[in-house]
Amino acid sequence: MKRIGVLALQGGVAEHAEMLKGIGDVEPVLVRTAEDLAATDALIIPGGESTAVGTILAHDSRGQALRELLVSRIQQGFPVWGTCMGAILLARSIRNDHRRHLSVMDIEVHRNAYGSQLDSFTVSEPIEGLEGGPFPMVFIRAPVISEVGPDVQVLARHKDAIVACRQGNLLASTFHPELTDDDRFHRYFISFIKR
Ligand code: GLN
Repeated sequence: MKRIGVLALQGGVAEHAEMLKGIGDVEPVLVRTAEDLAATDALIIPGGESTAVGTILAHDSRGQALRELLVSRIQQGFPVWGTCMGAILLARSIRNDHRRHLSVMDIEVHRNAYGSQLDSFTVSEPIEGLEGGPFPMVFIRAPVISEVGPDVQVLARHKDAIVACRQGNLLASTFHPELTDDDRFHRYFISFIKR
């Protein structure tokens, strides 16, 4: 059984765990420490508040140990998917914020790019690699992916803005598949795990 971690420091953890349970054949594991992370085959970083989680990973001693193991596993091919806040944590840089978090994926993000007049909204767009038609995308105070490096494959756009992309073992999306009943993107991520 594949063990899929969900980073559980803050944010929308339970919804990812529920969706994974529904898929079957994978076990969700809540990850708070390096020890928890060591026992997983992949990690989902959920939506939440990047400044809060970034602070724990940077300044709390258990958070620092977790961050160190995570970055070294990523360099060895460990699959990680960041949704919304998770994409901000993976990004090499943030256009409108001096903070850098994990800085492991060659993307730049623009935090809260849709502004307050469009705090949250839902659309449907096709995602490359997903069969079965357009995918429902829920955006909540979402960033956009404002730049991608040459090794990054763009998977989906909404109105020209990049909303999902992949760089090898790393997946980033600015929307929340765990808030829908469509598990195709979770299944796509699980397929990154090599046996
Ligand atoms: N606005 C949040 C941030 O910048 C991200 C929002 C989300 O994860 N839904 O950290």
